[in-house]
Amino acid sequence: MNLEQQLNDITGKMYGKGIADCTNSQLYNGVLQLTRERIAQTPSIKGDKKVYYISMEFLIGKLLSNNLINLGIYDELSTILEANGKALSDIEEAEPEPSLGNGGLGRLAACFLDSIATLGLPGDGIGLNYHFGLFKQVFRNRMQCAEKNEWIEENSWLNKTGISYEVSFGRKKIKSVLYDIDVIGYENGVNKLHLFDIEGVDESLVKSGIDFDKKAVDKNLTLFLYPDDSDEEGNLLRIYQEYFMVCNGAQLILSEQKALGHDLHKLNEHVVIQINDTHPTMVIPELIRLLTENEGFSMDEAVDVVSRTCAYTNHTILAEALEKWPLEYIEEVVPQLVPIIKELSDRVAKKYKDEKVQIIDSKEIVHMAHIDIHYGYSVNGVAAIHTDILKDTELNHFYKIYPEKFNNKTNGITFRRWLLSCNKELAQLITETIGDGYKKNAAELERLLEKADNQELLDRICEIKKGKKEALAAYIKDKEGIEISADSIFDIQVKRLHEYKRQQMNALYIIHKYLEIKRGNKPSTPVTFIFGAKAAPAYVIAKDIIHLLLVLSEIVNNDSEVSPYMKVVMVENYNVSYAEKLIPACDISEQISLASKEASGTGNMKFMLNGAVTVGTSDGANVEINQLVGDDNIYIFGKKSDEVIKHYENADYISLAQRLRLPM
Ligand SMILES: *Cc1c(COP(=O)(O)O)cnc(C)c1O
Repeated sequence: MNLEQQLNDITGKMYGKGIADCTNSQLYNGVLQLTRERIAQTPSIKGDKKVYYISMEFLIGKLLSNNLINLGIYDELSTILEANGKALSDIEEAEPEPSLGNGGLGRLAACFLDSIATLGLPGDGIGLNYHFGLFKQVFRNRMQCAEKNEWIEENSWLNKTGISYEVSFGRKKIKSVLYDIDVIGYENGVNKLHLFDIEGVDESLVKSGIDFDKKAVDKNLTLFLYPDDSDEEGNLLRIYQEYFMVCNGAQLILSEQKALGHDLHKLNEHVVIQINDTHPTMVIPELIRLLTENEGFSMDEAVDVVSRTCAYTNHTILAEALEKWPLEYIEEVVPQLVPIIKELSDRVAKKYKDEKVQIIDSKEIVHMAHIDIHYGYSVNGVAAIHTDILKDTELNHFYKIYPEKFNNKTNGITFRRWLLSCNKELAQLITETIGDGYKKNAAELERLLEKADNQELLDRICEIKKGKKEALAAYIKDKEGIEISADSIFDIQVKRLHEYKRQQMNALYIIHKYLEIKRGNKPSTPVTFIFGAKAAPAYVIAKDIIHLLLVLSEIVNNDSEVSPYMKVVMVENYNVSYAEKLIPACDISEQISLASKEASGTGNMKFMLNGAVTVGTSDGANVEINQLVGDDNIYIFGKKSDEVIKHYENADYISLAQRLRLPM
């Protein structure tokens, strides 16, 4: 059916109006329905081997624009709406952003799903349907406050399936319900993101902020992503969530494979289970439990086939982020897994005496990553330098045992969202210049090199950047109430707030610059510093740094001597939608982590793709970006990662201030 007719039919049925008479939010619901109907006609991706990407987080962002682009109907629909006096970009604003991830790890999972479907590979995501997701950040008295983020509306991308499983927590049984979100490949078929939920979820448990009764797991399990885990109840709830996800995931995988007639003894020939960080690790003992208890497998058979099926992605070397659970916690939440985990641990202990590679250590602590490494066939880091650090330092004891398991998969980003959708003007210009092969094959961007001296092309790129800066300035004026000039340099650091990412160092630079301007040293071009970051609610220093940035912003912007030359903005509730507005408008991308600490980063890639220059350290994927773009487009400074690691080993780092005996 003709697209315009179809949409008019839909809005007619829903609201008794044609396109031209609907509000933007009515049109959003109408276009959502239209998109769902088109997806229903798109074939699902089939193949002999399927990947299940299992992750506690999928930071998918809004879906409307991307789904329309991937279905190939964005431009046509945009024209139709324009002819009716409407703008697709206004309609997109009506979509709530699902908030199912914290940062890079969850965004990577979302980008992978897009990529897998675009490549036409069978691959589904498995995760949880958090009703309030990651908290919504609001600023009060120049400080971060956390509120629930309600994103599920009556009309949404969630499809309730009839699938439901029982999950046992000791004697307590909780029933799941499965919601699916369709994942459409670019000019390709459809895969699924499976999000498990509990039947009895009770949103009214959340009174003010993000506090709730953590004991009522049969009502709270899927309320929030990673509730505050600084106390024991929070930790237990996290284990409940993790087991709920993997138990459902394992049942789904086995039942799908049985329905396909596949022999579970050859599971590894038809399935890869990619474990995104350690949070889904319990899928390994859970599968072994299901195969031995229900499918007649011996322990040896089950361990063997599961070990050939599961693969583990490591995302960090920060010790505090590697999950270790006291065995008694697991005993309390999922006693049925304890005999399996003990068996897996005993098998390791019989072969290897080194305490550093044990699963259950002498203090009865379970090291989740060690389960993945011993009982998975692949261990990957997320950038070349990160994988090297895993092999040489952090996981060296394991690398010596299993050198063949270690491999690198440098993170990536989907061009469909981070260029075609968020910067249509630039994508159009690139297409005019080198054709549209780059949309599926990034290497084709190199063809732009032939035009490096084409002044007209460079002018057009600058014009596009200017337009994006003006659009961002208008958005920031509206949302944050701060006026910034598109003629200033936009210097942007947006990412989770963490000490290793060094927003604080950036703030110190801004203070220095402020004092310089006060002394009369004015920059030749004004600069606007823009930050965006959420801090974990229990991370006190991170929240203090947000406070510092908000205070700085107020001082600088209200100082009439300084503000013509410099402004500071901390945007509220940085998320994927905000990122899509900030990144195309950026001149300078700040990627300044303490070398060795940022496993890869993906923000660095998004900014580079949108034509910002990077100032950064020799860390994560910055290193590989540097190799590709040369020293003219990324300015690397600071200590190298091996120097930093040596300072840690020798505990001998002395700051310049200490060396000069400056007052501290
Ligand atoms: C890409 C992205 C991240 C990851 O940014 P890094 O700079 O790699 O830490 C975090 N949050 C959002 C919303 C993103 O889009």
